[in-house]
Amino acid sequence: MCGIVGYVGPRPSQEILIAGLARLEYRGYDSAGIAVIDADGGLNMRKKAGKLSVLRDSLTEHELAEGTTGIGHTRWATHGGPTDVNAHPHLADDDRLAVIHNGIIENFSALRAELEAEGVTFRSETDTEVAAALLGREYRKTGDLQSAFLAVVNRLEGAFTLLAMHQDQPGLVVGARRNSPLVIGLGEGENFLGSDVAAFVEHTRHALAIGQDQIVSITPDAVTVTDFDGNPVEPEPFEVSWDAAAAEKGGWPSFMAKEVAEEPEAVANTIRGRVRDGAVVIPELDGLDDLFTGINRIIITACGTASYAGLVGKYALEHWARIPVDVELAHEFRYRDPVIGADTLVVSISQSGETMDTLMAVKYARERGARTLSICNTQGATIPRESDAVVYTHAGPEVAVASTKAFVAQITALLLLGLHVGRVRGSLEDGAASVAELEALPAKLAHVLESEQGHVAQLAGWMADTRSVLFLGRHVGYPIALEGALKLKE
Ligand code: GLU
Repeated sequence: MCGIVGYVGPRPSQEILIAGLARLEYRGYDSAGIAVIDADGGLNMRKKAGKLSVLRDSLTEHELAEGTTGIGHTRWATHGGPTDVNAHPHLADDDRLAVIHNGIIENFSALRAELEAEGVTFRSETDTEVAAALLGREYRKTGDLQSAFLAVVNRLEGAFTLLAMHQDQPGLVVGARRNSPLVIGLGEGENFLGSDVAAFVEHTRHALAIGQDQIVSITPDAVTVTDFDGNPVEPEPFEVSWDAAAAEKGGWPSFMAKEVAEEPEAVANTIRGRVRDGAVVIPELDGLDDLFTGINRIIITACGTASYAGLVGKYALEHWARIPVDVELAHEFRYRDPVIGADTLVVSISQSGETMDTLMAVKYARERGARTLSICNTQGATIPRESDAVVYTHAGPEVAVASTKAFVAQITALLLLGLHVGRVRGSLEDGAASVAELEALPAKLAHVLESEQGHVAQLAGWMADTRSVLFLGRHVGYPIALEGALKLKE
């Protein structure tokens, strides 16, 4: 969901990779890493949790052997916290092969079990390392990175931009995309891959678009693209019209505009891996049915925008799980004497997972014996660590202060939770139909964003000088009206 860059050519690649990642910084991330194949055909890797400057400092302090084939990654953790070990690249085949990945591999736990049964051990908690290990296994069969890669991508479900290289095949980087972006940059005697053109725009403006479910191989002089069956595909050329300044925000006028446009993807990623045979099954809540069965009340606690998402969640939980739900502002919660105990489930919502009032509310609830579940967009944050369970939203990093995609992802997570708890408590009647509606949401959001844009801009212009605005709404439209009023004030 964050940044990917790949390079093959005559130049030392480390600075090209780091500068490319820096251009992708507008996307936000929690860790970064690079791998390069050096002149002696060795694969070297460095990865660090934290900002790119941490990686840069580490490379200055302890140099990494330089090489002209390389891949670089910025991560927004979805599987496993933001640690050095979980950062990408991930290695396999006795550390001779490196893989980076943006997205979510939905069937990773089945694949991991399969590999573990064969004796493979894993270093990280990521879904990505499973793809690396699979690629290592396939490579050992054929000794050919391209055919091994083809075999691997066909086993993966979900969303991925994947890049890989092997030290026995220097001068080659392979990549694939499904439900996640990847573009090719064409240079003179060198070629690039990027999760968007910002990754290479300072080197070339000649680019090739790669379609869904396609694989690309780049060498210094050649680019080949195929579909997932290995049939050749003619990629579509285009010229990048951005200047470097526009690249700072990926071509968007503001982070907020960019994040609004990412809403369909945020919702799709939050649903991903949580629907099985027409029912919502949240893997993180496996074995935790107790959280939902012995309770007679749910309190949702959050601040601001997240509390309005919580109000939508109240309607969903009451409708599907048939249990009373109250929504409490976290900054008031611990200053009164709320009636809570072991029969109460306190659900907290926070994009960052660090909202102080919400964290204090969760601690207060736990001290009084309540069960706690958090909805959070940031792996490894404090609130999930303080809770009995967590359902992550997979909205990707949100930079703008006014929340947009994180808000719709929170609502999505609450709808999933309502359907999950309803199923666990046996109160869900219209399950399959509701799940189908939920799965249709990303396409509907995309449709609204595309078709209403002009209309909204016109309304905004018309309203810009009005002195007061009244928002009206009923049922779930009521919290949306509250959120609309907040957005206007922000
Ligand atoms: N799912 C992968 C992880 O958690 C990739 C996350 C990303 O898109 O950066 O490591």
